[in-house]
Amino acid sequence: MAQPGDFAATLKQQADIVRIIGEYVQLRQRGGQNFTGLCPFHREKTPSFSVHAGNQFFHCFGCNTGGDVFTFVQKIENITFPEAVRMLAEKLGIPMPKVTYSSPEEARQAKQRGALLDVHERACAFFQEQLKQPHAAHAREYLRSRGLTPTTIAEFRIGFAPESGFLLRDAVAGQFDEELMRNSGLFSWKDKEQLPVVSDQWSETSSQLPEQLSVVSGQWSEKAGASGNRQLTTAYSRFRNRVIFPICNEQGKVIAFTGRTLATDEKSGPKYLNSPETPIYSKSRVLFNLDKAKEAIRQLGYSILVEGQMDCISVYASGLHNVIASSGTAFTEPQARLLGRFSKNIVVSFDPDTAGAAAAERSLALLVSEDFEIKVLTLEAGFDPDLYIRKKGAQAYADALAHSQKYFDYLIERARATFPPRTPENKVKALNYLLPHIQRIPSRIVRDEWANEISHRLGIESAVLRQELRHAATARSSAQVSAAPAAQLTDAERLLIRALASRDLGHTPPTSREGQDPDFEPARQAHYFLQQERLHEGFPSEVLIDTLVSAQEKGLDPMSLALEENHRRLLASVIIEAREELTPELLENAVRSLRKRRILRQLDELQHQLKEAERRKDSAASARLLRERVRLRKAIGSLSREAAAKV
Ligand SMILES: [Zn+2]
Repeated sequence: MAQPGDFAATLKQQADIVRIIGEYVQLRQRGGQNFTGLCPFHREKTPSFSVHAGNQFFHCFGCNTGGDVFTFVQKIENITFPEAVRMLAEKLGIPMPKVTYSSPEEARQAKQRGALLDVHERACAFFQEQLKQPHAAHAREYLRSRGLTPTTIAEFRIGFAPESGFLLRDAVAGQFDEELMRNSGLFSWKDKEQLPVVSDQWSETSSQLPEQLSVVSGQWSEKAGASGNRQLTTAYSRFRNRVIFPICNEQGKVIAFTGRTLATDEKSGPKYLNSPETPIYSKSRVLFNLDKAKEAIRQLGYSILVEGQMDCISVYASGLHNVIASSGTAFTEPQARLLGRFSKNIVVSFDPDTAGAAAAERSLALLVSEDFEIKVLTLEAGFDPDLYIRKKGAQAYADALAHSQKYFDYLIERARATFPPRTPENKVKALNYLLPHIQRIPSRIVRDEWANEISHRLGIESAVLRQELRHAATARSSAQVSAAPAAQLTDAERLLIRALASRDLGHTPPTSREGQDPDFEPARQAHYFLQQERLHEGFPSEVLIDTLVSAQEKGLDPMSLALEENHRRLLASVIIEAREELTPELLENAVRSLRKRRILRQLDELQHQLKEAERRKDSAASARLLRERVRLRKAIGSLSREAAAKV
């Protein structure tokens, strides 16, 4: 957590949370400093996700996720706090001081991920360099035959893995240790059969490490030279005689490779070979080309999904930059979420009926249930996007794209073609084919609309069948949205909470005006009254206000406190729902109102005691209580006059 004075706190002052979150979520200004959008952490149709510019925090009233800019980056990127700090620092161009981690394990993992990125970057540069060598002539020829220009080859950092598997190893050996090379997925080891003997010895006498394993802890190239270690010499590149396509994460860092074989014989392995899963690469979380496409996707408001990397590169090179590839496997939920951050409109540019039909079908099903607006671009038989662009040109592809069909129109056409709705039996078959697709749509209204459309297009006249269809389509549980909790609070409590949370975080609030009292420090003043008079005692917000008061004493950012869930929610809703600017008058009014309430409570209690005293015929007590009542009533009177004088 960011502490005042440390680097993270400085960084937070300079990071504009609306801009940072705006890179992941489409935000809309909802008046003042409040921005809203669809929550990236849970599925929703109407925005319950708020970002507050003044207080630099976000909160989702749907799933209760909230926090500061670091919390957001950590959650959305699935990284640790130190990594989030580093990422923001890089974004803002602020040099990092030395990073500290909360545990040695966390430090080890972060260090390993960093080193794995380094080794991939090194390997990528190596493959690129190899493509320029004389022995890569056939690789260059292959790329030329696929219509790739030098510009595109450079932009996608396409390279060549030479036949000899040792060149890459020798190129990186001095810089990275063996454990890292094993974890990188870039190498294979020939001597796996010989290892069991070694590891048996190791487990029996752990104090005596066999020479062969001692390299794990050190720079293996040196030790290899010294001991003539067999293992090291048998490491060789996983990719050989292949054209290499780097796979990047969203930030554009190389995290894996795909190698397309250039050999014609069967023994050379699969046509396409991918990196295995590693600590930095998880196939189900990466979308090919998202790093280059994300800006265009956001600007154009839709993405183009193609099946293979070659298709993707062709479409991109043709000038349509909002293209990504799923690499032939079915879309996963993390991928859909990832993509959904940029736009939920997608044109699927492959024929869901042909090659990889099952994967395509699953991808589309998932996109429907993740609430994407899907269109399908069906090219003439025998064409994929790459071939289409090469044969007919970029403009023809762009035109075809503009005429893509809504996915459900496409499905209805398909149902009509498969089961021509001329007989009642076929109509039922067509319906049963369509129903599972319709039922995946999260919105009941949209499902209902499609049910009507289907009845119409299949020519279903039977009222019973129509009814059945509509029932099957719409009967589906729907999520509920709970109301904001701030309604339980009085205006005065809300105002004081706002004041306490109004620490100056280094931002000039956009609402600050000329002529405003420069000495007005709402947090300090609210703190003074609450501390002196404990005006909030007995209110529903007492615990929250106490926490804020003590945070203020410690100089902590109230928005970064580890609060109970309902308190965090309360705090967020108070700030987000605030409509008027905080002024000294409003603060004074709130304090007066709380004082008044306290006196009214005291009067109530006094009335009670007075009755008791009269019942006991205790005239001394009665007289004392009556005098007290006069005093309290006077106090209320003067509070009211004060308030009136201010107006
Ligand atoms: Zn949420």
